[in-house]
Amino acid sequence: MSGTPSDTTAEPSLGDPSTASVAIVGASLAGLSTARELRALGHTGEITLIGAEDHLPYDRPPLSKAVLCQGVTSAPVGLTDDEDLTAFRWRLGLSAIGIDHHAAGHDVLLDDGTSVTAATVVLATGARPRTLIGVDMPGVHTLRTLDDALELRESMRRGGHMVVIGAGFVGCEVASSATAAGMSVTIVEASEAPGAALLGARLAHWLHSVHARHGVTLRTGTAIETINGTARVESVTLADGTELRADAVVIGIGALPNTEWAAASGMAIDRGFLTDEQCATAVAGVYAVGDCARVYNPITATHVRQEHWAAALDHARRAARSLLRLPPPKCTAPYFWSDQYDLRLQVCGTIPAGQSPSIVEGNLESDRFVAVYGDVDEPVAVVAAGGGRTFTRLRKHIDRSEDRRRTAQVLEHQ
Ligand SMILES: Cc1cc2nc3c(=O)[nH]c(=O)nc-3n(C[C@H](O)[C@H](O)[C@H](O)COP(=O)(O)OP(=O)(O)OC[C@H]3O[C@@H](n4cnc5c(N)ncnc54)[C@H](O)[C@@H]3O)c2cc1C
Repeated sequence: MSGTPSDTTAEPSLGDPSTASVAIVGASLAGLSTARELRALGHTGEITLIGAEDHLPYDRPPLSKAVLCQGVTSAPVGLTDDEDLTAFRWRLGLSAIGIDHHAAGHDVLLDDGTSVTAATVVLATGARPRTLIGVDMPGVHTLRTLDDALELRESMRRGGHMVVIGAGFVGCEVASSATAAGMSVTIVEASEAPGAALLGARLAHWLHSVHARHGVTLRTGTAIETINGTARVESVTLADGTELRADAVVIGIGALPNTEWAAASGMAIDRGFLTDEQCATAVAGVYAVGDCARVYNPITATHVRQEHWAAALDHARRAARSLLRLPPPKCTAPYFWSDQYDLRLQVCGTIPAGQSPSIVEGNLESDRFVAVYGDVDEPVAVVAAGGGRTFTRLRKHIDRSEDRRRTAQVLEHQ
């Protein structure tokens, strides 16, 4: 593999990290953010962004919302500006298929037979939707890319009934967008209490009531038996024998990290590229960021893979500083948001299993509230629907205590 021709003339310089070449595999939120962060911190070496998609980087959150509802195409979700186009080398429409490590750096091998040589490599290959084996038929969709969203939108133009398989956040957002587009929707979910692990039972129950009020039927505790159709999907049969008409089906049953391409390259992989707290893998000079990374959390002593927009930015900051041998940034607590109907749901921190929250502002009945987990003065997690200022204040508080706890943990082990 090391005989593969290299397309770069720059010799990797391992001496000064601020001038050494960097190859970033995965040209999306985490990859582009790492590149930008490096430049912002004074890196002047060559940065090459390698991306499997033909598109320049774009933002994924609007794919299940604005793109489906408002007919937005590529432009409003684009992430790059003119400066990015000249600041970095772009190798788009090419997939990395492996990495060779050697004394001078690393060769990232591409599927067109070329390679990119760099002193440092950042793995930012994200995740892909899990799907149901053997289901590949017009009208059956998964949602990860802009192309997926445009295909789904085309399907939704037919109207009728949509079956969403899986009541995770992407599934719930699609259900909300399809409802807004005039479709009737059934969500089919295998577990009895979807969302309870992430939001806690009380708030998960509230979220189901929001969907019910918007006319969405939620069928829990039931699996899909078959997806039926000849030229195109027509119906879905559930394990209990019920047949649901389906003009479109969306499979939203989670995502798998894109790591296989590097499996033969000596990387430690276990449901994501394993990294230390600063996103460094066990291979010197190789970092992993975003949805493909499982990053060590010293407080819980576990590796955690977070599929959230804010985590991709946090990883980018961490990896860039570590690469440049700068002190790490402050820690932030996990954060994500989800837009469903006219609600913005925000979650910060880790919700303790089995605990019920205190509602410190508003109430669930009005769909406007701030809910706190743990001590109200020392919260460990906060969930808000439409709770702007209070949520922001509590989020800062949780971020500060997360940073204090992590700093204490590091000092204890020095
Ligand atoms: C529909 C949808 C809605 C979302 N909504 C929200 C939300 O409301 N709130 C929130 O907090 N988060 C949301 N997210 C999550 C958020 O978008 C992701 O966490 C974020 O996109 C992760 O960025 P990433 O760069 O790590 O991965 P990705 O965005 O998946 O990018 C990885 C890139 O790597 C490329 N790639 C993969 N393999 C290779 C290879 N071998 N070689 C080269 N390139 C490769 C892929 O083509 C892709 O472009 C949503 C995600 C989706 C899919």
